[in-house]
Amino acid sequence: MDTIITYFSAMPTTHRSALLIGGLAIFLLIENAAPLFSIKKYNRVKHTGLNIFFTFTTILVNLSMAFLLVMTAQWVATSGFGVMNWMSGAPVVLTALVGLMLMDLVGAWLVHYIEHHVTWMWKFHLIHHTDQHVDTTSANRHHPGESVIRFVFTLVAIMVAGAPVWMIFLYQSLSLVMTQFNHSNVAMPKWLDDALVLVLCTPNMHRVHHHYRQPYSDTNYGNIFSFWDRIFGTYVVVDNKKLIYGVDTHMDKHEANNIGYLLKIPFLPYRPTIEYEEEEKL
Ligand SMILES: [Zn+2]
Repeated sequence: MDTIITYFSAMPTTHRSALLIGGLAIFLLIENAAPLFSIKKYNRVKHTGLNIFFTFTTILVNLSMAFLLVMTAQWVATSGFGVMNWMSGAPVVLTALVGLMLMDLVGAWLVHYIEHHVTWMWKFHLIHHTDQHVDTTSANRHHPGESVIRFVFTLVAIMVAGAPVWMIFLYQSLSLVMTQFNHSNVAMPKWLDDALVLVLCTPNMHRVHHHYRQPYSDTNYGNIFSFWDRIFGTYVVVDNKKLIYGVDTHMDKHEANNIGYLLKIPFLPYRPTIEYEEEEKL
């Protein structure tokens, strides 16, 4: 545990970049070898290019505000605020686990749930949902405005968890790999998925969140741990082969594949939720 704490206390930027690129490369290779949905059906180069653009804007937002993470970590340390600080005396492994769970709850599950229920936030988040071919490159397809919203919630998560710098880097590294994993277009053996999903968000669990219509798009919000959705009643299991990716208000392929248009969406008039006469049963 000491080695882990020392490493993540001063994780080099080069290692963080290597994790992003390495993770992307590994999941792309696995998707190629065992895809769930055929990858021949869309222009993969263009799709990847668009998603990498939004990954870069996400990185830019995060880098430009990174000093706020460190300042918040310093504040919780000096003021003794937050759950990890209140647990001083408990075994480090237990404190770390609780800290990681709280970072995932506030910094991923909660912000994601709110983004789906507050209209102006949804207008930013829906860019992530306009992807009609979800794969590992979709993981960081976020409007820069959404990256800011998520960053603010990460600061709140640090305060709630009382997280030191090493926990922030540990959480962000795991969060990155997990989002690349649970968006990947991988056909995983059922036994492996069944085992992993007991604790972690697997691709088979997350995909339904990208179904084009409600109520399925309002389920399985989790990123690292699968139990938040079980606890808060948003957990569903569906046959992934029946899914249609995208968001019903924005299915126009020209809109969904145009960077300029996607950047503008939050500032355009709101397109209300489509009401269907028939209930869909996946
Ligand atoms: Zn979402």
